[in-house]
Amino acid sequence: MNKAKLTDLLSTIFDEKSYSTDEAVLFAYSMDVSIHEYVPDAVVLPENRDQVVQLVKLAHTYNIPLIPRGSGTGASGGAIAVHGGIIVDFTKMNKILNLDIENLQVTVESGVIHADLNKYLEQFGFFFPVIPGSSDMCSIGGMVGNSASGLRAVKYGTTKDYVLDLEVVLPDGKIGNLGSSVQKTASGYDLIRLFVGSEGTLGIITKITLKILPIPEARGVVSGFFNDVEQIGKAVVNIFTAKIIPAAIELLDKSAIQAINLYKPTMNLPDAEAMLLVELDGTKESVISITKKVYHILKENGAFQTEMTTKDEERQKLWNARKLVGAAARRVRDGYARVYEGEDITVPLSKIAKTLLKLRELSQEFNLPIVVFGHIGDGNLHPAILIQKNNPEHWEKLNQLSEKIHEFAIEIGGTVTGEHGIGLTRAKYLQKERPIVLELMRKIKKAIDPKNIMNPGKMDLDGGYNSNE
Ligand SMILES: Cc1cc2nc3c(=O)[nH]c(=O)nc-3n(C[C@H](O)[C@H](O)[C@H](O)COP(=O)(O)OP(=O)(O)OC[C@H]3O[C@@H](n4cnc5c(N)ncnc54)[C@H](O)[C@@H]3O)c2cc1C
Repeated sequence: MNKAKLTDLLSTIFDEKSYSTDEAVLFAYSMDVSIHEYVPDAVVLPENRDQVVQLVKLAHTYNIPLIPRGSGTGASGGAIAVHGGIIVDFTKMNKILNLDIENLQVTVESGVIHADLNKYLEQFGFFFPVIPGSSDMCSIGGMVGNSASGLRAVKYGTTKDYVLDLEVVLPDGKIGNLGSSVQKTASGYDLIRLFVGSEGTLGIITKITLKILPIPEARGVVSGFFNDVEQIGKAVVNIFTAKIIPAAIELLDKSAIQAINLYKPTMNLPDAEAMLLVELDGTKESVISITKKVYHILKENGAFQTEMTTKDEERQKLWNARKLVGAAARRVRDGYARVYEGEDITVPLSKIAKTLLKLRELSQEFNLPIVVFGHIGDGNLHPAILIQKNNPEHWEKLNQLSEKIHEFAIEIGGTVTGEHGIGLTRAKYLQKERPIVLELMRKIKKAIDPKNIMNPGKMDLDGGYNSNE
């Protein structure tokens, strides 16, 4: 459809500040955090559900792709327009609609920013316990889209464990609620779980009801450094076998420690193979006791410079290194930048040491730095690869390296993505990792969205439209 016609159609739904076909604006929406770039045909910013419904009906009539977008912090190309079409930006639908403490839930519009929700809930002593590193930027809709998680998944699970209800606009414009406002239901297929992690390919989510929990009374942190990666794996397993479930267990590999020291020399972290950070929470008494137990488990497994605290300010200090790693990664080699490829594998806990060693081996083989950190408590590692972006040879090497990382994760019984999603970045691995799942996904997608207007080109789903099944 030509630009003038598209503009005409959009102007029947949106006021002039809520849609654009301006080239500069479209360019700004052509990317997320991944390496992919595709320019959309238009961008709209709905202010209410009715506008979303009208837009979907229009797209359905004219076969125009729709790409829902929260904040565009996704790392897999999920919110970009591979086949052109309209980006549906939820920035303006950012209201917290209802807090129902008696029923332990909160209902929000999709565009609410994660940190804003938790700031709001904090005044009532509650929280939404899934905490991504992008909390200050990412939207709840985007978290549902990608089934995001983060630091505290070890104890609290991921977004999919908290969604009670979703209001969705289906690809033909029908509106429906997929869940229920009660804490549990066994009524029919679990379509909530189908939509959580569907990356905008099945419909547009306009309203989300989340289960909330009381903020724990106290927290403790233990940190320690290790000279042997095998011992880190053992320390993690020993924490669990001591019947302790920490809120978070985070790892900074040797490469990440070096990056942090370069970025902020005053941190002065010791030269070590890796650093472990363990966060415990619960009642004051229980936290004091389990923090001490974890301290001893780390020491028994060879940790040095081990520290523990249950005091707020000291806790923040111990977390500082982990907080800096994202920004610090690119300091490892001058002129190199971080690219989000091969950066979200999740492996069995028993294979963590093997994975760390493999990543070091691959870094040497390709002569590209890989800064490794992650949520080791659930086996989720973020190997941040660095390249010279203006060097074509590096892009070629990046492809091969990222393929080797993903394939290694599959070979040892892991997955190519723990929390960032498939999108474009990992689409080619789904067939290999979970062939039957992809086959069923394609059938479901075709049944719900026969015209393939919802976020086409993602998750290797387009293949389903080429068969007659
Ligand atoms: C510095 C940094 C740290 C990060 N840390 C973490 C982390 O700890 N844990 C983690 O899980 N992720 C992390 N991420 C990745 C990212 O922030 C998450 O995937 C987040 O959930 C994306 O939210 P968003 O609002 O930016 O979504 P977007 O990137 O805009 O969209 C993500 C996907 O959701 C779909 N979508 C968005 N809104 C809707 C809607 N209303 N209806 C239907 N589909 C929709 C999109 O189409 C897309 O497929 C990090 C990213 C960065 C840059």
